Amino acid sequence: MDENCIFCKIINKEIPSTMVYEDEYVCAFKDLNPVAPVHVLVIPKIHIQDLEHVNEENSIYVSKVQEAFKKVSEIMGVNETGYRVICNCGEDGGQEVKHLHYHLIGGKKLGAKIIHD
Ligand code: 5GP
Ligand code: ZN
Repeated sequence: MDENCIFCKIINKEIPSTMVYEDEYVCAFKDLNPVAPVHVLVIPKIHIQDLEHVNEENSIYVSKVQEAFKKVSEIMGVNETGYRVICNCGEDGGQEVKHLHYHLIGGKKLGAKIIHD
């Protein structure tokens, strides 16, 4: 855990959040500034800075995050309508919080996919 990390503090319940799912490896809570009716952040319960810092030792947590998406989508009621998962990495990726997190966004027809530039 990183004592200066806001998401580690959310994991430790040192700062409040609206938690929608939690298990031994993962937690998921509503984004403070949602961009769609459903906007949940799914994070590993271990401080990993970003995708560049995933390794053999911590990848079990990332694997558990992958398994959690369908649980969160069901809880949030978007498992049948669909959703998008976004992970920003580093400076050019626009990552603001330096604790690996995945945005699960849905609840409406989403706009353009930014995959080209
Ligand atoms: P990034 O730009 O790093 O991919 O996304 C960071 C996200 O974290 C943003 O969407 C922002 O709204 C959200 N966020 C930042 N601080 C907090 C917080 O204290 N609580 C919650 N629930 N979300 C936060
Ligand atoms: Zn952290």
